[in-house]
Amino acid sequence: AGGNRLEVFTEDMRVSVRERLAAEARLRQALTGHLPWTLPLWFQPVVSTVNGQIVGAEALVRMRLPDGKILSPFHFIGAAEETGLIVALGEHVLRSAFDHLLYWSSHLGYVSVNVSPRQLADPGFVPMLAGLLAEHPELDPSRLVLEITETAVLASTVDVGERLATIKRLGVRIALDDFGTGYSSLTWLKSVPADVVKLDRSFVAGLAEDQRKASIISAVLWLARSLGMSTIAEGVEEMADWEALRAAGCPAVQGYFFSEPQPPEEFQAMLINRKCV
Ligand code: C2E
Ligand code: CA
Ligand code: CA
Repeated sequence: AGGNRLEVFTEDMRVSVRERLAAEARLRQALTGHLPWTLPLWFQPVVSTVNGQIVGAEALVRMRLPDGKILSPFHFIGAAEETGLIVALGEHVLRSAFDHLLYWSSHLGYVSVNVSPRQLADPGFVPMLAGLLAEHPELDPSRLVLEITETAVLASTVDVGERLATIKRLGVRIALDDFGTGYSSLTWLKSVPADVVKLDRSFVAGLAEDQRKASIISAVLWLARSLGMSTIAEGVEEMADWEALRAAGCPAVQGYFFSEPQPPEEFQAMLINRKCV
């Protein structure tokens, strides 16, 4: 991929040029034509291992096609990044996530939102975020979490550490997404003032049968705790993994074992019925 970066693609990860152009056209239309329902957010619960309660949710964007079909971000985030549409998409996602949190305020602790490298580098990002918080002084800013990946930091031309420090001063929390998959995870941990580590699912899936994974997880949990950070394990699909994580003292988890990302109506029903308990 250039710049000493190697990216691995498998057959089913390939998005055709035609599909990409179509996605780009739809994105542009949705964002400039004010068609927010074509870019809905789905929500996946984050569950406490202490009491099985839903403590928060990750907002994950989807694209709704005219025929009702739903596209995963894999089909359009790349195009959004390359064209710069990610800045407008990111603002839409942040505002929409914020609106949902306000609406579910008494049932949901926090909502977390993915922020891409290009978005973080945009000079308008922090003012937009500050403006959004100022519009809703009734909401504690720590109930908003921004998820960033290591590539966001490496790929950026701006001083990300400084930008993140500014964001933290607003009271918003920061999570290190896909933790462990980059090649400078410890440097990242040292230099970024984050609140949460999101342990990548490659360390989590099958951990109950893999002593090496279990050891890595214990070490990351200890390291995060020592740095005053919380940990969320991603990609928990099996009961055995949930039990192993709980035994290891991982405070919270996310994954298909509890729930896939859900449309807002379904997520709301889950919040109210506490189906995750
Ligand atoms: P991510 O931030 O790592 O999000 C987690 C992805 O893992 C989600 O895929 C989720 O559906 C999936 N997942 C959750 N639990 C499990 C599990 O138990 N097993 C497995 N195999 N997968 C699980 P999704 O929704 O397709 O999103 C893919 C990626 O697209 C996200 O990865 C994130 O990087 C990006 N993305 C999603 N929404 C946004 C957004 O609003 N803005 C930006 N910039 N990126 C986004
Ligand atoms: Ca994420
Ligand atoms: Ca992740």
